[in-house]
Amino acid sequence: MKVLVPVKRVVDYNVKVRVKSDQTGVDIANVKMSMNPFDEIAVEEATRLKEKGVVTEVVAVSCGVAQCQETLRTAMAIGADRAALVQTDTELQPLAVAKLLKAVTEKEQAQLVILGKQAIDDDANQTGQMLAALLGWPQATFASKVEIEGDHAKVTREVDGGLETISVKLPAIITTDLRLNEPRYVTLPNIMKAKKKQLDTFTPEDLGVDVTPRIKTLKVAEPPARKAGITVPDVAALVDKLKNEAKVI
Ligand code: AMP
Repeated sequence: MKVLVPVKRVVDYNVKVRVKSDQTGVDIANVKMSMNPFDEIAVEEATRLKEKGVVTEVVAVSCGVAQCQETLRTAMAIGADRAALVQTDTELQPLAVAKLLKAVTEKEQAQLVILGKQAIDDDANQTGQMLAALLGWPQATFASKVEIEGDHAKVTREVDGGLETISVKLPAIITTDLRLNEPRYVTLPNIMKAKKKQLDTFTPEDLGVDVTPRIKTLKVAEPPARKAGITVPDVAALVDKLKNEAKVI
């Protein structure tokens, strides 16, 4: 069974993002970029399935600018066997990515696609669901445990107030939640090995997909600045302020 793992290049989660002065988006010039953390979990899960002998090949795929190659090399250093880049400088929205991933899934004849539940830059939480709809495959989103049993995947999902376990027939789409696993550290020998692994490049045109954006961003703004706090001398002063100024007690 072949598994496809889509990985997105995003602003590193440690970076404090800055909004561009013209409010058209977030400034990514000279900013550290990394693999979306939920996608690292997806690569780790696919690699573990391969190590268990459940899957035969793990293919990482990224859609975006040429630098996404670095993200794909990281995926291969974690354990993906090879990678594909759908290269474009056009801003990609979830529907366009889902269409590209559908084309790659069909081309690769993958039986399972494991995506992150959401990208930490756009917070869309849409691509996996759209891909399932486009392919007509069942989906198991927000997975915290994945077991492959014959031609089904048993997936435990994090839902409000508990865990839900469902069974989906393969081929299927799974999206990862934070607690699915803890990705391994990437070792230097594996980084070196990843450099030699196969990385194919396509364009959206090669795949016959129109990636023109459908949604227009009107404005991106910073959250309102918080007012500075003050230090109170003692508990009595705190109680007095809570009672008479904030009027919360
Ligand atoms: P989103 O729907 O944008 O929150 O993204 C959900 C998941 O879709 C991500 O965690 C990735 O697995 C995948 N994805 C989104 N955008 C891309 C992209 N440009 N290239 C590859 N995978 C992507």
